[in-house]
Amino acid sequence: MQTIVIIGGGFAGLTLARHLHKKKYRVKLVDRDNFHPFPPLYYQVASSGLDPSNITFPLRREFRKMKNTTYHLGHVKEIDIEAKTVRTSYEMITYDRLVIAAGTRNNYFGIDKLAETTYGIKSVGQASHTRDEILDRLERAAICTDPERRKELLSFVVVGGGPAGVEIAGALGEIKKYIIPREYPELKPSDMNITLLEGTDRLLHSMSTKASEKAFTGLKELMVNIRLKTSLKGYKDKIITLADNSSFYCETLIWTAGVTAEPMPGLPEKLLGHGGRVIVDVYNRVPGHEDDICAIGDIALMQTDRYPRGHPQLARPAIDQAVNLARNLNAESFIRPYRYRDLGTMATIGKHKAVADIGPMHFSGITAWLAWLFVHLMTLMGMRNKINVMLNWIWNYITYNSSLRLLLRPVKYPLRRHWGD
Ligand SMILES: Cc1cc2nc3c(=O)[nH]c(=O)nc-3n(C[C@H](O)[C@H](O)[C@H](O)COP(=O)(O)OP(=O)(O)OC[C@H]3O[C@@H](n4cnc5c(N)ncnc54)[C@H](O)[C@@H]3O)c2cc1C
Repeated sequence: MQTIVIIGGGFAGLTLARHLHKKKYRVKLVDRDNFHPFPPLYYQVASSGLDPSNITFPLRREFRKMKNTTYHLGHVKEIDIEAKTVRTSYEMITYDRLVIAAGTRNNYFGIDKLAETTYGIKSVGQASHTRDEILDRLERAAICTDPERRKELLSFVVVGGGPAGVEIAGALGEIKKYIIPREYPELKPSDMNITLLEGTDRLLHSMSTKASEKAFTGLKELMVNIRLKTSLKGYKDKIITLADNSSFYCETLIWTAGVTAEPMPGLPEKLLGHGGRVIVDVYNRVPGHEDDICAIGDIALMQTDRYPRGHPQLARPAIDQAVNLARNLNAESFIRPYRYRDLGTMATIGKHKAVADIGPMHFSGITAWLAWLFVHLMTLMGMRNKINVMLNWIWNYITYNSSLRLLLRPVKYPLRRHWGD
């Protein structure tokens, strides 16, 4: 029986594990987290709308009934393509075929120290950390007696006007417009300042101009300052410097401006393309290593005439590539090339509004928002999660009360040095 090692239990990795033939393959799935995450709702964790457990699913629970599949906790440190081994933070695993499905991480475009000084929503850990920081600033501002310092504490900047940036800026706007008047009598909405910086001339650049315009007006209604054609050059000692050399104070900077492939040490440079993604053919096999290495999902770069820079890094291609690869592997013959089906793009702007581009059609407002709710509930894994999230949304729709605005500080000692990656 062949051993397939899958790196990553996200949309691509987990879908592949589920679809591989149970009697043909022994599957070992490695992930640094012991759960499958749902990134489209990270911004709701960061804004205290949902609990992390609502948008995650334990990998071991999924593998209970899959006797051919085992979960391995570990951060992949090195791949040896000659010896066919994967070294993780804890063990060495040998494979017959390796499938890389490790996704992406934040791209700071080489700007000094941004990884250490900014907050993100690129993982459950980052989203939970960002939530704690937002709550911390609100509480500290509420007991601050200096009006100028209070405004400093409540200065938030989101960098990146793509779907993730628009969604987290909208969620912050709702805190400013609705939560502060309800729960923070010491503060005024005008104490809080939210700025969204976008380098191009419109928000949601990958969507239609109609979607961009709706996002712009929706965020304005939520009292978010939007600065288009504005790029960040540096951030040091809480001072943002822009490309035109102007600067201003920002207490909390949330970075959503770009992604780059997760590094896979040991993979030769020649196997990597644009954005550090692993080059694959139309069957998701790595050229030159067709018999033993594949890559799927966000980390895979499949260049076609229509998509010379690879497919969009979205959940749908990740899931579809995994299903297609499983079919080819199960058939033991690579006869089905992957074809991208563009099912459209959506983004929410605050609690009741969204924009959606589906083919040539554009939707906005409540219709797009209901479609967004439906699509996300359908894709979310686990019946318990679906019910929890739906109840939370209904509750939040009727009231702005959230029992999740808890400031949970992690303890530092004893240090877990083996987690330090
Ligand atoms: C904030 C946000 C919002 C998004 N919203 C949408 C949306 O609305 N619609 C949409 O279609 N897409 C959305 N996306 C994109 C979508 O989440 C990705 O396209 C999708 O998750 C890609 O799936 P994947 O399996 O390739 O990678 P991922 O889902 O990123 O999974 C990768 C897995 O690999 C693991 N991993 C990474 N490196 C290592 C390592 N070295 N060792 C061990 N394990 C490792 C990670 O822990 C993770 O579990 C969003 C993404 C983000 C961040």
